[in-house]
Amino acid sequence: MNDRINVEGEAKTRTVAEWAKTYIKRDEIDRYLEDGKDFIDEDAIEAHLEAGKAAGPERIRAIIKKAYDIKLMSASDTAALLQVTDPTLKEEVFKAAREIKTKVYDNRVVTFAPLYCGSKCVNRCKYCGFSCDNQTVERRVLTVDEIEAEARILAGKLGHKRLVMVYGEHPDTDADYIAESMRRVYAIREKVRNGLGEIRRVNVNAAPMRIDDLKKLHEAGIGTYQVFQETYHKETYRDAHPEGTLKGDYRWRLYALHRAMDAGIDDVAVGALFGLADWKFEVMGLVAHARDLERRYGLGPHTVSVPRLEDAAGTDFSWVKHRVSDDDFRYLIAVIRLAIPSAGLIVTNREKPEMIRSVIKMCTQRDAATRIGIGAYAEGYADETGKASQADEKQQFLLGDTRGLDEIIRELVDMGHIVSFCTAGYRCGRTGKKIMNLLETGREGCFCKLNAVLTFQEWLEDFATPETKRLGDAIIDREMGEIRARVGSDYNEAIWDHLVKAREKILAGERDLFF
Ligand code: SAM
Ligand code: SF4
Repeated sequence: MNDRINVEGEAKTRTVAEWAKTYIKRDEIDRYLEDGKDFIDEDAIEAHLEAGKAAGPERIRAIIKKAYDIKLMSASDTAALLQVTDPTLKEEVFKAAREIKTKVYDNRVVTFAPLYCGSKCVNRCKYCGFSCDNQTVERRVLTVDEIEAEARILAGKLGHKRLVMVYGEHPDTDADYIAESMRRVYAIREKVRNGLGEIRRVNVNAAPMRIDDLKKLHEAGIGTYQVFQETYHKETYRDAHPEGTLKGDYRWRLYALHRAMDAGIDDVAVGALFGLADWKFEVMGLVAHARDLERRYGLGPHTVSVPRLEDAAGTDFSWVKHRVSDDDFRYLIAVIRLAIPSAGLIVTNREKPEMIRSVIKMCTQRDAATRIGIGAYAEGYADETGKASQADEKQQFLLGDTRGLDEIIRELVDMGHIVSFCTAGYRCGRTGKKIMNLLETGREGCFCKLNAVLTFQEWLEDFATPETKRLGDAIIDREMGEIRARVGSDYNEAIWDHLVKAREKILAGERDLFF
């Protein structure tokens, strides 16, 4: 922490600790407060949860029915769903969650990979392997050349089109570094079997930033900006993030996505780290967050993430009081699906394959071929085996599913999903309010269905093993059949012709075709 750094634009050098102390702009918190208060009213949340216990089956069934309108759910309705204990009613919530996912997103699942860029961090989050107190973790920040090498493996060997780039909070990985690393990733073009491998959407998971820094990410073409609140429960937040650290400021984090919206980034992502506080409280917090964004910007979160606390090397977890059971975890996913229905829902490889299989029909995205060690893709795939070990001293936590993309895609296809590599949305201005309105009314689904066909076909040509290609082609034929049946209602003949021709062009070697 006493390392000296050069701060661009300033003649003097400062210590990392000084950087951390001066980074937060107080007025970029205060401007969002109302009567000095933020939007997490803990007493109101507790009161809703208490009142929710009294909701009978009729009320629960009415809430479930209303959820099909694809509108953000009220706090009292969410609380009532969270308090359901009757197994039959819970099953009805699960069924609705699967149907609502299908109503908004059809049978599509999107895959991505995380790319960890640095393990240096000024914070001391009690649950994280990158905490600066953790002496067992090797500290490393990738150079932009090394990031490019990672991206070449991800796009060229593994077949990914989407990344979420992940950063610790440190002046060595500041907004300029993040923007530059994104530009390098977008620029790569790798020769693959029948075409070119490239990363077409870069999402970022990084610490809360100032508006001027967020504008730099916007200019570099950020897809979604993710900041997980970790816990909405203020006392738990204080316990887990020591005072005096940058992350110790609850409200700086709470308004990170508001600042992003004000910086022009309109795809923002919320999340809570399940295990820190009571899971029901966290779901209420997520819904309140979505509501405040929607109220102010006319637009809720693009995605919701539900990371569950995992063990990390050199980190004591004996203080954790609220570990979430598998059953509760599945149920909270179902409630979020109903409560924030137009947002994508991301489940990650922190979970084991069985768990992901059991919730994927309520979710929209999962990662695949994941490595979270710093530099782990280039190291792990250098020998062509791809059998990188999870060297736990180098990574933030331990993974539950390390299977490759082909295997995961085969499993998804076997379960009836089409795997979409579509990244058209932000490239043709279908982001933010536009995409959310289209999703609520079912119209985005029409574009997405066509683009899922084209982008999945492209992936099958360039990366699939013969068995995955066979299964994938069959599901694409089925999708084409469904689209054909909707010509005259959702699609017209011209679109159908365009789709058929575009698919033929892809089979003949053309790439990156989308609606
Ligand atoms: N440093 C940035 C921050 O904290 O916002 C972003 C990157 S951090 C590496 C990404 C996320 O990993 C955190 O927001 C947290 O939710 C999650 N995480 C941290 N420790 C974890 C653990 N032990 N198990 C599961 N997820 C964890
Ligand atoms: Fe740093 Fe983020 Fe880990 Fe906290 S969660 S120690 S801020 S990397």
